[in-house]
Amino acid sequence: MTARTPLTLPAPDADAYLAWLQETSEEALAAAREDVRLLKEQPPATALETLQVWNDVDIALGATLARCELFSEVHPDAGVREAADAASMAARQLSTEFGLDPDLYAVFAGLDHDGLDADATRLLDKTLRSFRRSGVAADPETRERIRVIRERLTALGQSFGRTIREGTRSIRVRPEQLAGLPADWIDAHPAGDDGLVTVTTDYPDAIPFRTFAHDAVARRDLLVASSTIGYPDNVPVLREIFGLRAELAGLLGYDSWPDFDAEVKMIERGPAIAEFIERISDLALEPARRDVGVLLERLRQDRPDAERVESSDTAYYAELVRKEQLDVDAQLVRTYFDFGRVRAGLLDVTGRLFGLTYSPRTDLPVWHEAVTAYDVARAADGEPLGRIYLDLHPREGKFKHAAQFTLVNGIAGRQLPEGTLVCNFPTGLMEHSDVVTLFHEFGHLVHHLVGGHQPWAEFSGVATEWDFVEAPSQMLEEWAWDADVLAGFATNAAGEPIPADLVARMRRADDFGKGYFARTQMFYAALSYYLHLENPEDLVARTRELQERYSMFPFVEGTCMPASFGHLDGYGSGYYTYMWSLVIAKDMFSAFDPDHLFAADVATRYRDRVLAPGGTKDAADLVRDFLGRDYSFDAYAAWLAE
Ligand SMILES: [Zn+2]
Repeated sequence: MTARTPLTLPAPDADAYLAWLQETSEEALAAAREDVRLLKEQPPATALETLQVWNDVDIALGATLARCELFSEVHPDAGVREAADAASMAARQLSTEFGLDPDLYAVFAGLDHDGLDADATRLLDKTLRSFRRSGVAADPETRERIRVIRERLTALGQSFGRTIREGTRSIRVRPEQLAGLPADWIDAHPAGDDGLVTVTTDYPDAIPFRTFAHDAVARRDLLVASSTIGYPDNVPVLREIFGLRAELAGLLGYDSWPDFDAEVKMIERGPAIAEFIERISDLALEPARRDVGVLLERLRQDRPDAERVESSDTAYYAELVRKEQLDVDAQLVRTYFDFGRVRAGLLDVTGRLFGLTYSPRTDLPVWHEAVTAYDVARAADGEPLGRIYLDLHPREGKFKHAAQFTLVNGIAGRQLPEGTLVCNFPTGLMEHSDVVTLFHEFGHLVHHLVGGHQPWAEFSGVATEWDFVEAPSQMLEEWAWDADVLAGFATNAAGEPIPADLVARMRRADDFGKGYFARTQMFYAALSYYLHLENPEDLVARTRELQERYSMFPFVEGTCMPASFGHLDGYGSGYYTYMWSLVIAKDMFSAFDPDHLFAADVATRYRDRVLAPGGTKDAADLVRDFLGRDYSFDAYAAWLAE
């Protein structure tokens, strides 16, 4: 491996990608096999050298998985996406094989901690725990069953994701049903030969439509289309995933999948997830009732006999309340958020905050013409820190949501981190909520870059407990709500910056609905937890029950939201993570002076104490190092109540 040379991607055509994915994967997996053979047959003399060889294995497997998991979601060619899934499967199989190898485990179990520094000691402890959690101590028959289950779970996860990714739906509406939508959106959606307009479930169509379209029936049709993606095909897939995860947890000696999963998180115990869901739901109930009451009152001006606010009415009436009662017109707001200027502003803001510079690289090959690349360096001394790719607009067969994908894991002295933002924003004017999402996802990218300079792969980049990973991103969202920050890039066609008093009203308006939003999040968290705990035979019926219990809005007949709830694969029973992280994000943000968001001392302390250490410390310790005290619920509870 050449030191610190960035990855050169192949030419974007399918053949070049197929060859590249195959060659690099085979090479990496062969190297990993050889390292493991040597570890077992000619173990190094010291614990440190043993861990270093294991680090090479980690790097090889991680590189293959990162590359494959990215391109299975973003490459324009379906054949490449499938090949990437296949190569990722091969890497996972090899990882499972290593984790179940008692001879390999014996090499680590026999190591002496003496002479290891704190990081290496932590690595050895985590490695031993990881072998135990893999099932290495089980009898041969059980190990074989574990291997089969893990392989099947990988295939099921891939199938689940593919069905969602390729399952975009659409509705057809008459042009007059577009009433309420912004003019630029209507211009971009001309009627077809039959006189009807197609509105898809992709975000740039669906978010404005459910926010602005006056036609309640069309809004409901679109919600039903969105909430039936993957339905019914993904239902048996999910039930098999839940069943196999429960069986796997049992074979490994745990009561349930949530128990197994929570052990390596901040929350530690499965039942603590249920307790957390109840705690947040209780805290949110009064603010939620109050704001739903406001929505219902406004809805009754249009439909006097309405008894409840439907899910398909929520965004629309929240927008009306914000416009009529809180003096924020989203259609005016969006005129300040041109995609190109927002992207430039994002780089400027994060550059100032974290001391980074971004140099555009228009000379590099990328997988699609819409993708942009930048080299990232430390502003203070020009030291290269890594490379990022931004793939920010929707296209057919592409990942449907917003996420950061690793392209290369950074390893100190060996390879710089490279990451990719994969989102689905419009190319013209954005909603302010899109801007917030962009800042959020960029927070993951910054974490990957700044934290990606550790020597051990296990601890490099976003290598923290999974229920902490959202906190840095949720905190960065705050910068997308600051008038001074926005004035730097949010300018309308006439070049006028967004007025500070409008931003102040936007912030007040954003507070509207935070209670019912929290309840909706707890509905999703409850789905993720209870579906794993119970694997209910009737997925739709259980979804309905949980929605009625936690959400403030009723279940919509004919839908099955879990079938397109991508987090059920990647986050498993841990969707509570978002709210758990938000509690910590609000607490961390309390250290910043709201009038001086770029104050260098606190931003630098945050960068160096929370992001840069990657996974070398427990998240609770990182937060304590930054705040000078343990994290608490206080800032979150105060924010929810205010
Ligand atoms: Zn996130």
